[in-house]
Amino acid sequence: MAKRIAFDEGVKLLKEGPLAELQQLAQEVRYEKNPRQAVTFVLDSNPNYTNVCNADCSFCAFYRHEGAKDAYTKSIDEAMQHLELARRAGLKTVMMQGGLNDNLKLEYYVGLIKAARERYPDIHPHFFTAPELWNCARVSNVSIREVLQALWDAGQRTIPGGGAEILSERVRLAISPKKMEPGAWMEVHETAHEIGFRTTATMMYGHVEEPEDIIIHLDTLRKAQDRIPGFTAFIPWSYKRDRTLLRRTVKHWAGADAYFRILAIARIYLDNFDHIQASWFSEGKETGMKSLAYGADDFGGIIFEENVHRATNFIAKTDHNQVVQMIRQAGYEPLQRDTFYNIIRTYENEGEVEVPEDQRVKETDRTDVLLNVLQ
Ligand code: SF4
Repeated sequence: MAKRIAFDEGVKLLKEGPLAELQQLAQEVRYEKNPRQAVTFVLDSNPNYTNVCNADCSFCAFYRHEGAKDAYTKSIDEAMQHLELARRAGLKTVMMQGGLNDNLKLEYYVGLIKAARERYPDIHPHFFTAPELWNCARVSNVSIREVLQALWDAGQRTIPGGGAEILSERVRLAISPKKMEPGAWMEVHETAHEIGFRTTATMMYGHVEEPEDIIIHLDTLRKAQDRIPGFTAFIPWSYKRDRTLLRRTVKHWAGADAYFRILAIARIYLDNFDHIQASWFSEGKETGMKSLAYGADDFGGIIFEENVHRATNFIAKTDHNQVVQMIRQAGYEPLQRDTFYNIIRTYENEGEVEVPEDQRVKETDRTDVLLNVLQ
């Protein structure tokens, strides 16, 4: 077992460690934890139930204020139409999330889970990030434990890790001062783990953070996982600038080498996380495939529907077959997993995976576009 690295060592490695050394250390941990020369992925979709939000995060192009021309809040039936699409596409999990909408109380969130479980029992509802749950507790005048318990009782079992950005108060004050504090984000996840949920943890980097902030984020997660285990995976992605207020401040964007470095340091530092997820989606397909050699053992989902990155003009599309082929091309065996990271399908002796015509990526689709450049 590789020796746990301390905070200062983490900062030094992130700042000064040669990329090749980081890669080698990360790959050692990766193969210690996941020895199979394989990479997992999930058939999923990321629709939204509302874009109304009170947080005004400067890095976000997705939200609208209530009353805006293109603001929307879906009824439960309207939200279920996304699950119907997912069912038709053979998807296994739906990550539904939205803005911090003060008009939506606990009954609405419980209603979404109940409807999903009753009408689409074969689809796993991976709904609501910590800030949404925190806002739900606030406007419903109940504790976060009551919110989580009600969702558990309605049949929810996992929670996505979005909304953390970087768990450093300095960073929060700079980019999302109206949003919950880092300690509150962690309280949601720790309470969820106590109840029995499994959750993921994410990080959005490449804006105002310093290397120390990244290690503070990883250190906070590692300590929490030691105390109350429940995180399945860590998922970093880079900030996308287009159409966001923060683009006026952040004049650069983090490229492929920064992504490889972040993945590798995460794999080394988070020695109590089973999985590190790389992404064809958030970084583009070329970088995504290469990044599998920097400590990652999972390739995320096919993301049938998505609007948050799309709002920043960052559009990438794939399908079931393409993901399988990308993983093979990168030198790994593709394995389909569920939201708990259990393997549910192998592709041994299969060449192309049949994808219905209406779900295939087409020549005319923008499949690997990085519009996140200086303008
Ligand atoms: S990132 Fe989330 S919380 Fe922040 S403004 Fe966008 S929708 Fe709202």
